[in-house]
Amino acid sequence: MNTNDHTPNGFSTRAVHAGEPRPRIGGAVSMPIFQSSTFETREGESYDDIRYIRLNNTPSHDVLHQKLAALEGAESALSMSSGMAAITTSLMALLQPGAHILAQRGLYGGTGSWLVHELPKLGYTCSFFDGQHPEQWEGLVRPNTALVLCETISNPLLEVVDFDQVVQFCRRHGFISIIDNTFASPVWFNPLSLGFDLVAHSATKYLNGHTDLVAGCVMGSSVLVSRIRKCLNLFGGTLDPHACYLLQRGIKTLELRVGAQSENALQLAQWLSLRPEVRRVFYPGLSQHASHPNARKYLRGYGGMLAFELSGTSDQAVTFCQNLQLGVYAPSLGGVETLVTIPARTSHVALTPEERRKIGISDGTIRVSVGIENISDLKDDFIRGLAGAMS
Ligand SMILES: *Cc1c(COP(=O)(O)O)cnc(C)c1O
Repeated sequence: MNTNDHTPNGFSTRAVHAGEPRPRIGGAVSMPIFQSSTFETREGESYDDIRYIRLNNTPSHDVLHQKLAALEGAESALSMSSGMAAITTSLMALLQPGAHILAQRGLYGGTGSWLVHELPKLGYTCSFFDGQHPEQWEGLVRPNTALVLCETISNPLLEVVDFDQVVQFCRRHGFISIIDNTFASPVWFNPLSLGFDLVAHSATKYLNGHTDLVAGCVMGSSVLVSRIRKCLNLFGGTLDPHACYLLQRGIKTLELRVGAQSENALQLAQWLSLRPEVRRVFYPGLSQHASHPNARKYLRGYGGMLAFELSGTSDQAVTFCQNLQLGVYAPSLGGVETLVTIPARTSHVALTPEERRKIGISDGTIRVSVGIENISDLKDDFIRGLAGAMS
């Protein structure tokens, strides 16, 4: 390594400059899109050198992968066609036949459904652990347990587990640890530095940030990522070059966006907790939130996601959402615009009201993905929503 190299380490510096080709291609300041499915064979190339979109090795992929790795301080990164493709491909690449995995209870709905409904068909088994009770984890270990899957911030109640405990538990048993860092984003948390083996993202959310593509990724050591890559090359859940371009473009402003979203979320959470129409507010940055100590210990910021419980029925929660003029009543998260959803009607619709109540989600719980709008405008919009719901 050339020690004279200036290695800039600020987050946005990395997000903007990491992976950019030198010399610039045709002098282009913005990385061009390589919309070509295949590439000419060069003299002396072997089968392993073939470049083809499905093999995740076009110039568009290379730049994106280096940027993604830089965001998490990883040796290596790999993009996929969705967050679900990232999670499912990674697990299937790493598990031996018949393996047992331990997954945090309350994972993202798609991940949870895949673990419960699809994984067993492939001959794997899965048990769920309570993130808030590490003393129970040992009891779930089986001789064939191989991997632990958790999330940085849970949905929709924004719980944060004690990550040191997860890492120590995995090290003690030799389990591979994977964490879905979508909700915190690499701006606020870098799980690899704490000892997690792999970090996954739905890049659809904060990494892209503009609500205009679906993508996923996984970052970690070159050894693990290349195992996943071999599997991805054959499973085929590859990201298209145009989506690679959009994602690497979105990443450049990640820190600015997440900073603004998190600042708005804290202000909105504090403001909501003083409103008479609101029974409870869930935001890891509020001192009354049960996960606040873990969030303070591990995260550099509290993120742009919050939830609150209206003192009312689920119909009133719907009316709140419909009465917003800025906030959009739509699923998903992480974009520049504020989105609201009702978990009882979306992510947790499959549970009975009783089951939902047990895990702390009432029919009037509203989840907010806070955008970058002006905070006064957002509060005015929420006043409009509350007035409509309570009238
Ligand atoms: C959205 C999401 C996923 C799935 O990502 P897709 O890009 O929709 O496939 C996985 N994990 C979390 C935490 C998510 O929010």
